[in-house]
Amino acid sequence: MPETQVYSIPLRTRFRGIDVREGMVLRGDAGWGEFSPFLEYDDATALPWLRAALEAAETGWPEPVRTSIPVNVTVPACSPQRAREIVLASQGCRTAKVKVAERGQADAEDEARLEAVREALGPDGLIRIDANAGWSSDEAVRRIPVLDRSAGGLEYVEQPSPTVEDLALVRRKVDVPIAADESIRRAEDPYRVRDLDAADIAVLKVQPLGGVRACLRIAEDIGLPVVVSSALETSIGIAAGVALAAALPELQHACGLATVQLLGDDLVLDPLLPVDGMLPVGRRDVDPGKALALSPNYARTAHWRDRLASVRQDLSL
Ligand SMILES: [Mg+2]
Repeated sequence: MPETQVYSIPLRTRFRGIDVREGMVLRGDAGWGEFSPFLEYDDATALPWLRAALEAAETGWPEPVRTSIPVNVTVPACSPQRAREIVLASQGCRTAKVKVAERGQADAEDEARLEAVREALGPDGLIRIDANAGWSSDEAVRRIPVLDRSAGGLEYVEQPSPTVEDLALVRRKVDVPIAADESIRRAEDPYRVRDLDAADIAVLKVQPLGGVRACLRIAEDIGLPVVVSSALETSIGIAAGVALAAALPELQHACGLATVQLLGDDLVLDPLLPVDGMLPVGRRDVDPGKALALSPNYARTAHWRDRLASVRQDLSL
């Protein structure tokens, strides 16, 4: 059994319906790996997350073919003023991912946000939007060309609508490229996206898909350009995403790995934060003082140790 540490870190802003990110990190011969499936996931769903952690801790990752990874700044469904501030404070990111289709907001709010982002980013920056499946396919077909104009050109639209069938339909009716994110959660999902010609780009996340090597295999099999994204991890988990982005034969798009700043703290002393819009490739070690400061109470620690033991049993089946 490798050395393990449970962590509990408050988020700077509520995200995915949670205020605190919990998980654990494991140390093996190769270094630290992160195991942080979301709390509602059952053991079967958490199993690939454990495979990813064990790959990081026990095996390590394939050789990188690049030394730094371009990353996007993420702009939430905020006011134009706030959007401008976030882009200007983004440490040189040349790609912005802007959230749109937020429930309860008017269409005009998305348009104003995109205009503000374009103004702050300048004419040569790239803007992608993420609807988080917030539109029906009809709405997506209507809204995407409008937002393409507001943004002065879109790089792509991430998950405009809920299902793979919706994505395929929207993709046939709009000129802006489509990226599949929520449609890819389990290892078999990317193949369905490919088979239905539902997307131009696949968003891959290391933990849900079972590790860096598993993702490299998927990327090769599906033959689509890949954007590597995080699952809201500490720098230990982000390093695995960076390792995937670094090992891909081709990387055409900035990755969604600049998410450590969403956490109120981190387990390492040198967090994986962007400099000049890039993250460096390389591992990080858990700092013992940070680990101690961020460890939760006895009950939460026991919960995670039990969870690890339970998912580990499935691993040997
Ligand atoms: Mg997304």
